[in-house]
Amino acid sequence: MSEATLQLLAGDPAREALVVGRVVLVLGDEPVTLELGVPAGAVGFQELLPILHGLADLVVERGVAAAEAAGRTVSCRAGCGACCRQLVPVSQAEARALAALVAALPEPRRGEIRRRFDDALQTLHAGGVIAEIDAARDVTGEAAPDLGLRYFERGVACPFLEDEACSIHSDRPLVCRQYLVTSPAARCAAPSPETIDMVALPARPSRALLLADAEETGATWMPLVYALAYADEVPPPASTRAAADMLRDVFSRLQT
Ligand code: SF4
Repeated sequence: MSEATLQLLAGDPAREALVVGRVVLVLGDEPVTLELGVPAGAVGFQELLPILHGLADLVVERGVAAAEAAGRTVSCRAGCGACCRQLVPVSQAEARALAALVAALPEPRRGEIRRRFDDALQTLHAGGVIAEIDAARDVTGEAAPDLGLRYFERGVACPFLEDEACSIHSDRPLVCRQYLVTSPAARCAAPSPETIDMVALPARPSRALLLADAEETGATWMPLVYALAYADEVPPPASTRAAADMLRDVFSRLQT
């Protein structure tokens, strides 16, 4: 077994009081020590996303290493944005983080991105996919594969996709970080579960957050393209719990 230590911060120590803690997770059969700095007061999952992003990146690193050790090669390349036309399920915390990111953009960039979100929703409405999504959202978890295919068929690009590359790479949602394939890239342009070989990961932070967030706030998954409308329409939940409690909820679900 190899041991690793990962230092992750949620918050800026120059601007707020942070508390530090240490937790050991076992990913696959390999332990990793997380040295965490988190806000001292009550938080929401949105504030903890930097930690979950770092954890997801580590999980992916290990999944890729295992795939390469088994003789497989990741086929994802810069300039291939096929997966960015798929239904991308995010938690309410991630939706609010994306909405905040867009709100902080200067004009005219902000208006352009907002227009892309509006266009995406209109296309999905016109194709009847919105109703299907809303019905599926009653079920906690990730979207059903057949719904994903119908979504993909509408050809709705993620509003953050630019020149077939992610324009918010360091802030992209957990599920985007976790999506890597070893099947030919062309298959992602006509996806079906039978033809795409995903890189197997030793944990799924995206699903862990979806489940923990849904239990905390009652808000189930939503497609990324809902993010701005959701943040506009639904007031944020009150933050009442300490970061350690919130993270424990996520970490306990990493293998689900
Ligand atoms: S956030 Fe980035 S990686 Fe995720 S779907 Fe959008 S463009 Fe693609």
